[in-house]
Amino acid sequence: MGFSERETLVVDANAPGAIVSALNRAGFEVIGPTVESGSVVYGPISTGENLPRGFTDTQEPGHYRLNPHADGSYFGYVVGPHSWKRYLHPPAVRLFAARREGKGFALEAQPQEAPPRAFFGVRPCELAAIARQDRIFLGGAQPDPTYRTNREGAFLVAVQCGRAGGTCFCASMGTGPRAAAGFDLALTELSDGGRHEFVVEIGSPRGRDILAKVPHRLATEDDLNAAAAVTARAQAGMGRSLEAEGLPKALLAGLESPRWETTAARCLSCANCTMVCPTCFCTTVEDTTDLTGDHAERWRRWDSCFTLDFSYIHGGAVRRTTASRYRQWLTHKFATWFEQFGESGCVGCGRCITWCPAGIDVTEEARAFRTGSAPKERT
Ligand code: SF4
Ligand code: SF4
Repeated sequence: MGFSERETLVVDANAPGAIVSALNRAGFEVIGPTVESGSVVYGPISTGENLPRGFTDTQEPGHYRLNPHADGSYFGYVVGPHSWKRYLHPPAVRLFAARREGKGFALEAQPQEAPPRAFFGVRPCELAAIARQDRIFLGGAQPDPTYRTNREGAFLVAVQCGRAGGTCFCASMGTGPRAAAGFDLALTELSDGGRHEFVVEIGSPRGRDILAKVPHRLATEDDLNAAAAVTARAQAGMGRSLEAEGLPKALLAGLESPRWETTAARCLSCANCTMVCPTCFCTTVEDTTDLTGDHAERWRRWDSCFTLDFSYIHGGAVRRTTASRYRQWLTHKFATWFEQFGESGCVGCGRCITWCPAGIDVTEEARAFRTGSAPKERT
């Protein structure tokens, strides 16, 4: 659906704050971008003042810098180390507690409740990542109750991207830089030539209700063209791409390639890539008891295919080398995820490239296998 076919309005430069206030008044806890420790992260915001206005970022393999930007735009940066999965699929969840009672234990189920939340500033690749996690956590016969509670009723305010980050490759993955669906509201920031306004696409009836509380006017043809030019600029400026065609076959044909060892020689097995990835979903389960032995808890925590213990089964870990763990990650993301979920496990957000301390670039690794420059077998 193009800009002209959706109900589209224009709001002024104060609108981000006004939308945050309207969401607060409607009972939502608003989570949005904010600056912490030199990067854009997601956290509770209560006013437009909390947004990282006048910032832009530089991202390259293994490199992130947040810099001031003179134009005063609200969304001059792209995605940082956080993704929305920390709110939908939290890093640590208590599954249940148990209390000693006589000779047995009484189980206390974990209450499934979450405040109604609005996610403000969701980028198109992140909407795509949420859709992938919806399939993982809600698509099977046993929906995950924690994810379902957090996801149900979440209000999504998307922001269409006006510039590509140095590690973004969403255009080649078909997930950005413009989102066509999956949001309640979508903002496109127009901040060129002395103009500072937002074109807002309405994605749902409750999106319309929130925007009704913010001063607005109907978008003109010129506004729609200006908004289309914003995302076209981001697409034209995207320096990275990943060619997915033929990649699953090439990766699976190269399971014995020496390329895995070459990459593993750089990889620290630190798991950063999986922690920042908005689609990675692996977890481990830990049981704890207090010193009296009267109280026990079971927790689910994020885990990673890069940890040695993740593949531990009776007798030891089955993926003992970094090469085998890197291979597991890359082949799952770009090959076997298709078998499991019918699509790629990657949305092209670029986080794993930026936040890899060794600067390992998945687009380069994938290209090596797809073009045949990664030998298939050890010689
Ligand atoms: S694999 Fe990398 S680029 Fe793809 S979604 Fe995960 S973090 Fe983003
Ligand atoms: S690929 Fe990079 S981020 Fe991922 S485990 Fe290896 S060193 Fe860490």
